[in-house]
Amino acid sequence: MRTDIDFLEGNNASFYLKVGEKMYEFKGVNPNLAHTAWEEIQKGDFHIGKENPVKEKILGVINSLGAQENVTNLKELLKLSGLQKFPEDTYKVGVLGDGDLVKYALKKLTSGVLKYERANLKCSYDYYLILTRQFNRKKQLDINESLFNIDKPYISLIFEPLTFSAGPLTIPQQTSCLNCKLTSEEENNYYGNFLRLFDDSEKESSEYIPEELLDLGINFINLQFLKQVLQETGQAIEPELAQTIMEYSLLDGVWIERQLIKNSRCEICFPRNEGSQIFEVKL
Ligand SMILES: [Zn+2]
Repeated sequence: MRTDIDFLEGNNASFYLKVGEKMYEFKGVNPNLAHTAWEEIQKGDFHIGKENPVKEKILGVINSLGAQENVTNLKELLKLSGLQKFPEDTYKVGVLGDGDLVKYALKKLTSGVLKYERANLKCSYDYYLILTRQFNRKKQLDINESLFNIDKPYISLIFEPLTFSAGPLTIPQQTSCLNCKLTSEEENNYYGNFLRLFDDSEKESSEYIPEELLDLGINFINLQFLKQVLQETGQAIEPELAQTIMEYSLLDGVWIERQLIKNSRCEICFPRNEGSQIFEVKL
């Protein structure tokens, strides 16, 4: 039985049952029967006899909350929380980006539902992850474009030495992409397109990124992929990174959430057709 269940006798033939953070009050019961029932349940005796109707009541509550289930992993916990249609299949995530970061992430990432692999362009994956340093813009943009054309959801995780940016989750044609992000950064910056002078540079950074920060970003993304799987399998759960970026700065110690709608100047999301005009409006 779960270890977060507690019992308390009250006044006037009442007692309280606490299961996790949920509390239940029982009134009009024989306190001796209640006490005996609780003692037996704690010893693992779940037999219900006619002599103790209170025990039946207590066990009814405990069983209805699944409190006799032995939860040992996230899947069991989510099932207990009402997500009954938890996927039984394994979903493959292809990881692309800076070689050393990809290698590190593959060593760390484990999940009962998701299988992470270095992406091989000959294979097909359910999802993709872009994992690069912010400096390596050409790589970001090249991978972004390739994945957009593969037409599978992908998430971007971009590191600087002491900060990272998680997101967006790109569902091609539907939600914003990494090029939208760089385009919006350019528009919101005083220096404008000065920021994008090096976008085509082949020069690649392999500067040190602290493992503590990598772990935080990678684990956050792992949960985001799991939420995407849950959403696609019909659970009422929203992925957090669709049209959104979460930025974490170690020195500032805060998470900043930024909305990122598709940028009408993004030539990946909006391929130019002559004579067409593009509007993207956030409702
Ligand atoms: Zn875009």
